[in-house]
Amino acid sequence: VNLTTDVVIIGSGGAGLAAAIEAKDGGKEVIIVEKMPLVGGNTLRATGGLNAAETSVQKEQGIEDSIASHYEDTMKGGYEKNIQELVTVLTENAADAVEWLINLGADLNDVGRMAGASQNRSHRPTGGAPVGSHIVKVLKDNAEARDIKILTETTATEILTEEGKITGIIVTDKNSNEFIIEAKAVIVATGGFGANTTMFADLDNSLSGFGTTNHPGATGDGITMAAAVGAGLVDMEEIQTHPTVVPSNGYMITEAVRGNGAILINSEGKRFVNELQTRDVVSEAILEQDGKTSFLLFDEGVRESLSAIEGYVRQGLTKEGETIEELAEVLGIDSEILMATLETYNGAVTDGEDKEFGRDDMPRSLENSKYYVIEVGPAVHHTMGGLKINTLAQVLDENGQVISGLYAVGEVTGGIHGGNRLGGNALTDLIVFGRLAGQTAAKDLQ
Ligand code: ADP
Repeated sequence: VNLTTDVVIIGSGGAGLAAAIEAKDGGKEVIIVEKMPLVGGNTLRATGGLNAAETSVQKEQGIEDSIASHYEDTMKGGYEKNIQELVTVLTENAADAVEWLINLGADLNDVGRMAGASQNRSHRPTGGAPVGSHIVKVLKDNAEARDIKILTETTATEILTEEGKITGIIVTDKNSNEFIIEAKAVIVATGGFGANTTMFADLDNSLSGFGTTNHPGATGDGITMAAAVGAGLVDMEEIQTHPTVVPSNGYMITEAVRGNGAILINSEGKRFVNELQTRDVVSEAILEQDGKTSFLLFDEGVRESLSAIEGYVRQGLTKEGETIEELAEVLGIDSEILMATLETYNGAVTDGEDKEFGRDDMPRSLENSKYYVIEVGPAVHHTMGGLKINTLAQVLDENGQVISGLYAVGEVTGGIHGGNRLGGNALTDLIVFGRLAGQTAAKDLQ
């Protein structure tokens, strides 16, 4: 059976869901196809927050921030390789994205710090609860309330064109039935390729053998499909590792743990880096340590400040000690060295100056029993490169010309994050550009 709709969206992560809601609210019929049994993609795994400046939530909490500062941090974090006009769209529409989500029922009341940010601007649910699963639930509920059809276990395999016009997609359902969904607008929201080990290792040989934090659906399908109809690609070799991933099971530990005060130590019990440097710098520093691994260390105060940590403790990812000496023993580290490390760090917190590594934000000293560590190292996390888009989320060909009827949003696109994505900017990207794609598609179909 062939289906017909106005807008078909490939992928049900945050970007696809946001696009769907806006296209529907713009008066268009929408179908989402999702190859996995579960809605939400990698967005479900997002734990850090949603970066936005000048939000009502920040204002209520007395946080002074500016869009200009969010813009500068994003460009600096991306080594100025970012496409400037896309970063302008990202940062100028971020506060509105937060308001939109709150109006749809989201709780984004906790505002924390992420690496590379000069202010607290990472919005997440009260108590620092995981943000991705919360946003996916809110968006999914809203999509369902609007009668948006989501076909799960349905894989898009090809984008169709006729005489240069987009006409729909070919999909395969779970019983291997192939059919066509006819649509004048196709929005590609398939996410990145962080789970495609061959693809990332081919693009960057140094990542050969690396694990991933991504869900198994992140295989880059949208890039291949869109490139086949002429889409341009940008920054494909820019691939980010996340520094704090549990080596034994690929479980990602949110950057917010460091943001809320944790430090990193090596197997000697010494700090070795400013923990709030960007992800690439911290990853690199860990790879220089013995065993290419490190320990994320925090105390009861940090644990209480962030409810995501409860999940880590429950899952047995932490090792703990009532005292520093006990912790040192558990880790097989010289306790005098570890005590000296903590004494120096706590002194830096008191002085407000980290002479050793220049860490600016040290929200609390580590002095409350118990003490915890999680062993962590880098794994592939985010693919910055992808489809070329303009400021309306329309896909561009290699010459910068719009491919009429084709839109792309979220991790499948390239250029927004340049050479390195700041933690908390992915959700901003998904919601800001997802909304924009839905709005543009609805408008273009008028
Ligand atoms: P983003 O963060 O950009 O929204 P996500 O990874 O959260 O990206 O979501 C992308 C979704 O797209 C995932 O749920 C993934 O399973 C889905 N997807 C990827 N490739 C296909 C495909 N070929 N057909 C249908 N869905 C796909």
